[in-house]
Amino acid sequence: MATAKKGQSGKYVYLFGGNKTDGNATMKNLLGGKGANLAEMGKLGIPVPPGFTITTEMCTVYYKLNRKYPKTLQGQIEVGIKHIEKTMGAGFGDKKNPLLVSVRSGARISMPGMMDTVLNLGLNDQTVKGLAEQSGNERFAYDAYRRFVQMYGDVVLGLKPQTKTDIDPFEEIMDEVKEKKGLKLDVELDVEDLKELVILFKKAIKERKGVDFPEDPWKQLWGAIEAVFGSWMGDRAIKYRTISKVPHDWGTAVNVQAMVFGNMGDDSGTGVAFTRNPSTGEHKFYGEYLINAQGEDVVAGIRTPQPVNHSTKTSADQKTLEEVMPKAYATLEAIYKNLEKHYKDMQDIEFTIQKGKLWMLQTRNGKRTAAAALKISCDMVAEKLISYQEAIMRVSPEQIDQLLHPMFDPKAKKEVIAKGLPASPGAASGQVVFHADDAEAWAKEGKKMILVRIETSPEDIGGMNVAEGILTARGGMTSHAAVVARGMGKCCVAGCGAININYKTKQFEVNGTVIKEGEWISINGSSGEVMKGKVPTIKPELSGDFGKLLGWADKVRRLLVRTNADTPHDAKVARDFGAEGIGLCRTEHMFFEGDRIKAVREMILSDDLAGRKKALAKLLPMQKGDFIGIFEAMQGLPVTIRLLDPPLHEFVPHETAQQQEMAEDMGVSLEKIKQKVESLHEFNPMLGHRGCRLGIIYPEITEMQARAIMEAACELKKKGVAVKPEIMVPLVGAVKELEHQVNLIRQVAKETMEKYKTKVDYLVGTMIEIPRAALVADKIAEVAEFFSCGTNDLTQMTMGLSRDDAGKFLPAYVDMGIYKNDPFQVLDAEGVGQLVDMAVKRGRKTRKDLKIGICGEHGGDPESIEFCHYVGLNYVSCSPYRVPIARLAAAQAALKEKTKVAYTTK
Ligand code: PEP
Ligand code: MG
Repeated sequence: MATAKKGQSGKYVYLFGGNKTDGNATMKNLLGGKGANLAEMGKLGIPVPPGFTITTEMCTVYYKLNRKYPKTLQGQIEVGIKHIEKTMGAGFGDKKNPLLVSVRSGARISMPGMMDTVLNLGLNDQTVKGLAEQSGNERFAYDAYRRFVQMYGDVVLGLKPQTKTDIDPFEEIMDEVKEKKGLKLDVELDVEDLKELVILFKKAIKERKGVDFPEDPWKQLWGAIEAVFGSWMGDRAIKYRTISKVPHDWGTAVNVQAMVFGNMGDDSGTGVAFTRNPSTGEHKFYGEYLINAQGEDVVAGIRTPQPVNHSTKTSADQKTLEEVMPKAYATLEAIYKNLEKHYKDMQDIEFTIQKGKLWMLQTRNGKRTAAAALKISCDMVAEKLISYQEAIMRVSPEQIDQLLHPMFDPKAKKEVIAKGLPASPGAASGQVVFHADDAEAWAKEGKKMILVRIETSPEDIGGMNVAEGILTARGGMTSHAAVVARGMGKCCVAGCGAININYKTKQFEVNGTVIKEGEWISINGSSGEVMKGKVPTIKPELSGDFGKLLGWADKVRRLLVRTNADTPHDAKVARDFGAEGIGLCRTEHMFFEGDRIKAVREMILSDDLAGRKKALAKLLPMQKGDFIGIFEAMQGLPVTIRLLDPPLHEFVPHETAQQQEMAEDMGVSLEKIKQKVESLHEFNPMLGHRGCRLGIIYPEITEMQARAIMEAACELKKKGVAVKPEIMVPLVGAVKELEHQVNLIRQVAKETMEKYKTKVDYLVGTMIEIPRAALVADKIAEVAEFFSCGTNDLTQMTMGLSRDDAGKFLPAYVDMGIYKNDPFQVLDAEGVGQLVDMAVKRGRKTRKDLKIGICGEHGGDPESIEFCHYVGLNYVSCSPYRVPIARLAAAQAALKEKTKVAYTTK
C-alpha cells in the first residue's frame, strides 16, 4: 500500500450488517447510494452480508494526495475486516475457514457498469482448499477461484483486450481448454479443468503483465480498492459523468462485503426484482431468479431466468421461486413489503439465497418509465403511503413530456446516423423532403414527410405544418424551427451539424451515408437522434392519473401557467392542457397564411403612406378574424397579443419569380421591387429595424393591429363573449418608445369602443427583452400595465450570443463546462436572471401590483420555472405541449420553497 506522508484524519470507514451499522440512507453523499442503502437495511434488521463502506470522501482525498491514502485508513479497514470476520465466523486468509469478500464501487448516483467490481476476493492456493472443504463442493470452490483470478487479472492487473476486435485473453484460454476436451459450455468443465485454468490464467498474467498474481489476501484487497477508486477516473466513467452532468469531484465509495453464494447447489440461487412493475407501474412484485447461479449469470443471459412468483408467470412450464423455495420466497416477500413501506417508493432489489438462507445484496429506488412513475405515485397516495405533495415531487416534468408525445417503440431496431439538438420532443418518421412547397404538395398526396432544411424561415411555415417532423442542420433551441415546432407540438431536431444538405441534388450526406429525397428517416425530438428508415412508434395514452397529479399540482403552485399560441387551434390545445391564458400571441405568424403574405408584402414594398394604408386595410379584416378565433377559444381568459416584431426583410420575396409576381400585382417594375428588397437588407437584423421600432417609424402598422384587436374584442363583447385583451409592445428599451406606442393604441381603442358603443377592459404593456429595459424598469412601469420577460432576446443581448448563430460553438461551450447549460434552453440565472430580478423589483417599486410574466422559451423549462417562482413572477408562458410540464414544475418549485429547499443558482 502506498501511504502519504501528510494524511488527513477522519472517519473513512463505516460498518454495516451483523450487530453494528454506522450509516443510514440519508448518507448517500458520503457512502454512495449502495453503501447508504446497505446501512439502512442493516439498521432495519434485514439480513445483509456484513461489510464496510470506504467513503466517497476518501476517493477525493486519494486523488488530492496523488493517488495515495492517509495513514489512518489502514487501521480503519482492519477494523472493518474484523467486523466481517466476527459476524461471518470466518477468517480473512484462514486456510480452513476462509472469509471471501466482494469489492464494489458505489457513487452517489448509480453509474451502471461504468466502474469496477471484484468478487470472491480472499481466495488463493491455500484458502481454496478450505472453501472446498467447508462447502463440501470442490467444483464450486475451484470455479469461484477461477472466476476470481480472471476478474482480478482483468480489473486490477489490467490483462484485457487491447482493441475492440481482440478476444478477451481469459476467454481465449478457456476456449482452448474447452476445445482440447471437446466441451461446449463452461458448466461442463470439471474440477481438474478448473485447476488447470487457474494455473494458465496466472501464467498469462505473469507473462503479459510482468507481475505475479498476489496470493496474500490483504495485497488482493488493497489492489481491488485501488482499482475501484481508479475506475472513477476511467474513460468510461468520465464520459458517463460528462453526459449526465455529474460533477467529477463527487468520488465513489468502495463497498467491501462478505461474499454469499447463490451457486452452492440446488438450494441456492440469485435474483433481481422490482417491488412494482417498472414499465407499467402495476402493483405486482416483479422479478427474475436463477437456481444455482451467481449474480452475473442472471445478467449474462446464458440461462433464462424464471419469474419469482405465480402472479408474474407467463407460461405454465416456468418454475417460480414461490414454488421451488417457498420459505425463502416468503422471507423475500416480507422484506420487499417492509422495504417499500420504509422507503415509501418502488424498490429495485438484488438477493442471493445460499443454502436456503436469503440475503439482501442491494435495494434502491427503481428506475421507471414515465407511465409507471405516474401510476406508482398516484397508487401510493391512495394506499396512504405518501402524501399528494410527495407524489408531485416524485414525477419529473421531463417524464410528463414523455407521456404527451408519440414515442418510438423501445423494442424496435434503429440505426442512428446523426445527432442534433432535441429541439421539440416527439418521435416522427417520414420521407425526406427539402422544400416547404414540395412538402405541401406531397401532403395533398397523403405522404408523410420529414422536412429537412439547412435552417427554416417563416416562409416554410406551411411545409412545417404538414410535415411529421423537422430536421435542420443549423440553429439552436430558440431558432425559428425549434420555436415554431414546439408551438405546433411537432417533433424537431435542430442544429444537426453533421448533415450536409444539397438542395440542388436533393440529398443529404452524413458520415458517408447519402439520403435522397423520398427516402425514409426517423427523428427523435427528445434525444436529438436521426435514424435511417421508419422506426415504429407507439402512441401513449393519457390515464386518469395524469389529470389527478396535475390537479394536485394546481392546488400547490403559485405561478400561473399561460401559453404561447398564435392560432385558435393551438389555443384550444393549450386550454385542454390547462393553460390559464395566452402569454404571447406572435402576430407575425399570422401574416404568412393564405393570401395574406401578398398584402403584407404590398405594405412593405409600398413607397408611401397611402400605399401602405391600402395594403393594411386588406390585412385588417384578416387579423381581426384571427383575434376573434383566439378570444373565443380562450373564453374570457387573458390574451396577450404582441404587435409586429420581426424585421420586414423576413417577409419580402427573395426569388425573382415571386418578385416578378409582386411587381405585376403592384404595377411597378421588377427592378423597383429588387431595389426595395435590397434596401431592407440589414447586417444585424436582430439589432435592427424591428420590434416597436417598426411601429414608431410606421405608426399605421400599430394602428391597424390595435384596431383589429379592439374591433374583435368589441364585437365579441357585444355578443356576450368575455374578452380580456392585453396588447404588448415588443423590444422597448426606452420609456419614450413605449409612450409613443401606448398613446397610439389608446387613441385607436377609444375610437373603436366609441364606434361599437361598448367598453372593453384591456391592458397595454411591454416586453422586457432589451437589457436597458430591465435597468430602467421603474420608469417603464410608469407607462406599462404589465411586463412580460422576453428571455430569448434578453439572453441574446445580455450574453452577446446570437440566437441564430451560437449553435456553431455553444454546444462545445456546454461540453467544456464554460456554461452549464445552453442559456437559450435553461435561463442563465446567474447573469440574465439578475436582469429579470431587477425588472421585477424596479417595476414593482413604481407599480406595486405590476403583473409580470415570462414568454421566452424558458417559460417551459422546469429549472427556469423554479427561478421564475423564486423571483416572484405572476406567470410563465410556454408552448401548448409544455403547459402540463410547467404546471408540475411550478408546483414543485412551490413545494421546494415550503420544505425550505432554498433555490440556489445552479
Ligand atoms: C423573446 O425574445 O423572448 C420572445 C418571446 O420574443 P421572440 O422569441 O419572438 O423574439
Ligand atoms: Mg423577442
